[in-house]
Amino acid sequence: MDIDSRSAELASNLARVRSSITDACVSSGRPADAVSLIVVTKTWPASDVKRLADLGVTDVAENRDQEAAAKVAACAGIAIRWHFVGQLQTNKCHSVVRYSRVIHSVDRSKLVTALSRAAAAESAELVTCLVQVNLDGRDSAVSGPAGRGGVDIPAAPGLADQIAGSKGLTLGGVMGVAPIGGDMARAFDQLVQVSMAIRRDHPAACMVSAGMSSDFAVAIAAGATHVRMGTAVLGHRPHLR
Ligand SMILES: *Cc1c(COP(=O)(O)O)cnc(C)c1O
Repeated sequence: MDIDSRSAELASNLARVRSSITDACVSSGRPADAVSLIVVTKTWPASDVKRLADLGVTDVAENRDQEAAAKVAACAGIAIRWHFVGQLQTNKCHSVVRYSRVIHSVDRSKLVTALSRAAAAESAELVTCLVQVNLDGRDSAVSGPAGRGGVDIPAAPGLADQIAGSKGLTLGGVMGVAPIGGDMARAFDQLVQVSMAIRRDHPAACMVSAGMSSDFAVAIAAGATHVRMGTAVLGHRPHLR
């Protein structure tokens, strides 16, 4: 596919996605601009990020440090806010805080400690962190590393407190991934409940990052403020991730 037809494809996908987001906002009685789009560019080249930026996209997300760091370097000079949405190991924190403005996948105390240390050393600005909440309805100790990540619901407010009290970090809110084959509406409702509980002590932490290409309308109906969409904008990913 040549450059121009890829741009045209992205433009038409984006227009469709943006109008679906607006429709979902309106049909759930929310303002048309209540939800921000974050385009998940994992597996797609830096050239696509440049095309997206030309089409008015301001926020993109990646899920692997190695891939992300290379792409960020290739996109130097382009006005894009980078988000990190993947499971994160403590030894990657120094790299990730160099380019990420928002980290959506903060799910354990040790990671907060490592991110705080890294952000204080590497980042001029505070790094916004979201508490990733496990919505599988199973204890993460049981679902284990095969699960989709996230802190169990009862522990989420404590993790939020830790982020809010950590040097170099600021608490942005919560993030969740609906369980495959589960009750999506119930999962997103639970995430919004957790968000409300956290906002009692941290009123500014109002981001609710929820919804992907297949379930964004359900997430918006539940109260998502940020949707993370890859496939609907860029097409089916070249390899499974
Ligand atoms: C890949 C990914 C997305 C986007 O998924 P699509 O189904 O392609 O929209 C959203 N959130 C996370 C955490 C992801 O890893």
